[in-house]
Amino acid sequence: MSPEEFRAAGHEVVDWIADYLRDIRDLPVLPDVQPGALVDALPAAGPEKGESMDAILADFRNLIVPGITHWNHPRFFAYFSISASGPGILGEMLAAALNVNHMLWKTSPAATELEQVTLGWLRQWLGLPDDFFGIIHDTASTGSLHAILAARDLAAPDAHRTGKHPELVLYASEHAHSSIDRGALAAGIGLDNIRHVPSDDEFRMRPDALAAMIEADLAAGRKPFCVVATAGTTSTTSIDPVAEIGEIARRHKLWFHVDAAYAGSAALLEEHRHILDGAAQADSLVVNPHKWLFTPVDLSVLFTRRKDVMRRMLSLEEAPPYLQAPEQDRAVNLSEYSLALGRRFRSLKLWFVLRYFGREGIIRILRGHMEMAQHLAQSISADPRFEVAAPVLFSLVCFRYLGSDQDNRDLLERINSSGRAFLSGTTLHGKFVLRLAIGNVATTGDDVRQTWEWIRSSAIPATGSPAAEPLRPL
Ligand SMILES: *Cc1c(COP(=O)(O)O)cnc(C)c1O
Repeated sequence: MSPEEFRAAGHEVVDWIADYLRDIRDLPVLPDVQPGALVDALPAAGPEKGESMDAILADFRNLIVPGITHWNHPRFFAYFSISASGPGILGEMLAAALNVNHMLWKTSPAATELEQVTLGWLRQWLGLPDDFFGIIHDTASTGSLHAILAARDLAAPDAHRTGKHPELVLYASEHAHSSIDRGALAAGIGLDNIRHVPSDDEFRMRPDALAAMIEADLAAGRKPFCVVATAGTTSTTSIDPVAEIGEIARRHKLWFHVDAAYAGSAALLEEHRHILDGAAQADSLVVNPHKWLFTPVDLSVLFTRRKDVMRRMLSLEEAPPYLQAPEQDRAVNLSEYSLALGRRFRSLKLWFVLRYFGREGIIRILRGHMEMAQHLAQSISADPRFEVAAPVLFSLVCFRYLGSDQDNRDLLERINSSGRAFLSGTTLHGKFVLRLAIGNVATTGDDVRQTWEWIRSSAIPATGSPAAEPLRPL
């Protein structure tokens, strides 16, 4: 591709992105497509001869975009809503152009050091201690896997050589993210040795239950090795009592990991700083800028006080000759701390985001999301046909229509199939509830109010009133 051809197509792509971000509200959040539609629309074999960018971009617009679920839509409220903000997208473009692989310091000094600088800024903004070392992984799942591997290495150092470890047991709340269980599985901890600690009425892990489970395992001759607290559970964003759990972990000399993938960002706000109280004593913590910090997927941060263990757990007797590089204080070789050798230049987009918005700008947006969630919760409480189903701590509202589970599932299906908004569901206290998660940088109070109106108007009305209008696509 000649520079001129690149320039022309590049301008076209940037124009498309700018229009997309401007007009995204006109698109259905969820596409109206059948499984296999794209497979059927595309050739079964790749082209023999190269094609023009015009043809490729036309197919992108006409075939790919109609099958996209628009995660960047301001009315994407399912799971946890995320944002590829403008500065984040631009950082991603430049990282693609540089195509850096900073596995070692010398394979890209600036990428290695920018990662440490941006994570240092983030660490300070979250109120975490200076001795936390930060490293970027693709996802929180990968970050937590590394934490669990380090915990295993510390608990059973001989296994590094023998591959044999005692019967290790990991503890996490029944509301912990599935990535913790899967990380434990990948670390060779069988399902029978992953404890799901019961939670209280507000979905927080019960420290007394944790302590009792640890005692029972010790009495049975098993070896507890890792405790995971969740700061912001996936179903309801409940906050486990981090400090108390950490105290129990310390008493038994267990690795203490904090999963703050979503809610960690809230610790930027003075009034929410307390959610990480006790995290300063953690051995490791994950937080996802690609979740609630306006950074395009993927970018997750693992902080650890145990840099030495993270390195040792993956060390070989001797590094292969092509990877031998001395590590010095100021020349860190990041690949020594991760299973993946290759490293994308992810910190560039985070650096753009942190600088573009600044700490105050980020706080203003996060606070706005939380205010929208509080307003929505008030509207829901004011409607006798609905109830709020869990405390609204941040920007997620769990609620239900006061009918059967099936009524709630039908309601969810009516909203989502209209393409106007996308919500998800979960089960709390045995009942199906709807989840509306606010987190996109472009979401406004009007987006939330409108969506609430659509939900109200498409809920099954009380008997005797006229039937709800079906919700048509916009
Ligand atoms: C989203 C989430 C995860 C998983 O994050 P990935 O980056 O997709 O792996 C883990 N834990 C919690 C609490 C989450 O909310």
